Amino acid sequence: MQEDLLNSVIRITKTRDIDSLEYSLLSTIQEFIACQSISVYKIMSGTGPCTVERSLSLRVRDIGEYEWLDRDVIDTPHAELNSCLQSACSITMQDPKGIESRWLPIVIHEKPVGAIEVKSEGLDSAQQVMLNAFVRIYENYLTILRENERDKLTGLLNRQTFDKKLKQLLEKQMIEQNRAIRDGHDPRSQHQGATSWLAMIDIDHFKSVNDTYGHVCGDEVLLILAQKMQEFFRSTDLLFRFGGEEFVIVFEPADFDSIKDKMDKFLNLVRQTHFPFVKKLTVSAGLARISPYDFPINVLENADKALYFAKEHGRDQVNFYEELVSLKQVSAHIESSDIDLF
Ligand code: GH3
Ligand code: MG
Ligand code: MG
Repeated sequence: MQEDLLNSVIRITKTRDIDSLEYSLLSTIQEFIACQSISVYKIMSGTGPCTVERSLSLRVRDIGEYEWLDRDVIDTPHAELNSCLQSACSITMQDPKGIESRWLPIVIHEKPVGAIEVKSEGLDSAQQVMLNAFVRIYENYLTILRENERDKLTGLLNRQTFDKKLKQLLEKQMIEQNRAIRDGHDPRSQHQGATSWLAMIDIDHFKSVNDTYGHVCGDEVLLILAQKMQEFFRSTDLLFRFGGEEFVIVFEPADFDSIKDKMDKFLNLVRQTHFPFVKKLTVSAGLARISPYDFPINVLENADKALYFAKEHGRDQVNFYEELVSLKQVSAHIESSDIDLF
């Protein structure tokens, strides 16, 4: 038993990826604790009311028979789950049939970020201690993994995680497209109507901020801008600090008009934001379409061309690579059969 336990801890802490960590945690819990289902819930950050997603769920059908349930957004979270997330305290409830539900908060840097839900026919005190210990190990390890993915100054995702995060997002879209084909929808119309976008954002004349007011002030500007980005964009959009004063956003599928409108509004928000010392700060942005069939490096190059165009044509503006290609303002990097978006 003790050896099994140690092996489980080794297995949990061997993973280097947050998604695999969830799989390890849930399979370990069900191995040691007799339960009917275990789920991981996460708070989706961003503006608006608190939204919760069920990140992963394991249902025990029979002895040795399991079912994994994938990510799902929970529109109306259980009242007990909500209380657990808000109070950061464990909550236990029993239904009339004697089924016990337990919610244990996941707290990172003193802030609840999610919860583990365990449904069972009741846990004895040894099982409760073990469950609690597994969740604490998970919490500690999750803190380290999250810190490794993020830029130290702004808290945005760092460049090292770009390939992995992008791959995950595109795989998700590929699954959705395949599902559309299976369900008899035209995947091409879906692909054309709502495609993902990659935006490259660069602060205008940032060197002069550093030169005039110093590096500390420059860092403060970077921090405030990153906070504005986190508040403004959706929690499902991936926000990266890519380099010094350069940011990359990978958007979930959206049509051209709505993404253009979103970016125009963001540039306006930056214009109106009060930064310390700096009277006026603007950013330029270049966007390119991204689909599961593209190479990320090509899309980054395309977005960079559109950004370069913005810098060359007055800054403080948004340009789209595909639009520039169709207007013959930049040359196409790769021949694409569906460039007729505009
Ligand atoms: P442009 O409008 O063409 O983008 O001009 P720019 O001055 O913003 O661009 P340039 O590439 O010439 O300068 C970028 C500056 O960003 C240079 C460097 O001092 C500053 N920088 C890079 N990383 C950091 C950082 O972490 N903190 C601070 N404060 N400054 C940084
Ligand atoms: Mg710049
Ligand atoms: Mg730059």
